[in-house]
Amino acid sequence: MAQKKPLDISEFAPKSMLHVKETRVERARFPVIDVHTHLAWAAKSEKGVPLSEGRRFPAKPEELLAVMDAKNIRTMVNLTGGCGKGVRECVARYDRPHPGRFVTFTEPWWSKAHEAGYPQFQADAIARAKADGARGLKILKTLGLYLRERTVEGPLVKIDDKRFDPMWDACGQLGLPVAIHVSDPEAFFLPADRTNERFEELNNHPDWSFHGRDFPSNAELLEARNRVFARHPKTQFITLHVGNFAENLAYVSECLDRFPNMHVEIGARIGELGRQPRTSRRFFERYQDRILFGTDAVPGGVETPQQIFGTALYEIYYRFLETEDEYFDYAPAPVPPQGRWRIYGLGLPPGILEKVYNRNAAALLKI
Ligand SMILES: [Zn+2]
Repeated sequence: MAQKKPLDISEFAPKSMLHVKETRVERARFPVIDVHTHLAWAAKSEKGVPLSEGRRFPAKPEELLAVMDAKNIRTMVNLTGGCGKGVRECVARYDRPHPGRFVTFTEPWWSKAHEAGYPQFQADAIARAKADGARGLKILKTLGLYLRERTVEGPLVKIDDKRFDPMWDACGQLGLPVAIHVSDPEAFFLPADRTNERFEELNNHPDWSFHGRDFPSNAELLEARNRVFARHPKTQFITLHVGNFAENLAYVSECLDRFPNMHVEIGARIGELGRQPRTSRRFFERYQDRILFGTDAVPGGVETPQQIFGTALYEIYYRFLETEDEYFDYAPAPVPPQGRWRIYGLGLPPGILEKVYNRNAAALLKI
C-alpha cells in the first residue's frame, strides 16, 4: 500500500467536479446603490484609530465610474469620508463633480473623544459635516475594539459610552443615517487554532484576532450596540456586515424585531449568507424592506480579495442575489479568503431585488 503523504492545507486547491449551472450576471437587474465602499482613508492612523482630517485616495473618480457604468451601479457611498477638512475633500473630489454618483459619509473626531466638551463638539461637528455635504455618519469597529481613553492607550471606550449620546441624537435630528460596524466575525474572538473555521484568514492577518487580552466578547459588543439603538429610537442605524453577525441570522432577526430603527447591509458577508441559503432566503423575504446592498469594496485593495473593487466582485454579488447557481466562489480569489467553503445563490424575485439594490437605500439616504 502506498504511504499517505501529508499535504499542507495552504497547498490544497481542489477543483469541484460538480457539473452544475454557471450563470454570468454582468449587470444587476436594477440600478445599484452600493452603500458600503471605501474611496478615501485617513492619511494618518494609529492602532486602528484614524487620526487625521486629511484623506488619501485609492482611485480616480473616472476609474470608478467606468466600472460603475459597466455593472449598473448608479451610486457608491464612500463611508470613510472622515471629519472636518476630510469631508470637504471627498465631496469636492467625488460628489460635486459627479452628481448622483457618489455620496460621502462623515466620521467622528476620535482623537478628541477624551477632551472635555467633546459631546457637544461632536454633535456640532455632525451638523457642520452635513452643511459640507455629508449624508450620513460611519462608525468603524474602532469604537469598541481600538479607541481607548487616551486615544490609543488606557482602557477601551465602550460603544454605549454616554459621551456619544449627543452625536447619535444629532444624526437623528438631522436625518443622517448611521452606518455602524461593531465587533467582527465570531471566530475572530476565539483561539486561532486548528478548530477555528477562519484559521487561514487569521493566520494571514494575526492582528485581526480579538481573542483574549482586554477585548470584550462578541456578545458584549453587540449588547452595548443594542443599548445605543434602544436609547436613540429616532436615529436610523444601518448595521454593516449583516447586523455584524451574519453567522447568526436568528440573533439578527431578533434585533430587527426589537429595533425598528435598525437596518442591515450585506457587505463582505455573502460567504456567510451563501452557505446557509435557505435561512438567508427566508431572512431576505421577511426583512426585504430593511436590507441594503453593499460590498465593502476597496479600490486597489489586495489584502482582502473579498473586497477588491472591480467587475469580478460585483458579478459574484449579482450571481448570489439573482441566481440559484450552486457551489460557487464568494470572492474573486484562488483560495476562498474567509474560509474554505463555497456558496449557493438565493434566486431572489424582482420585487425583493429592487428593494435591496436601490429602494431601501434611496429611502434612507433620501435620494
Ligand atoms: Zn467597510
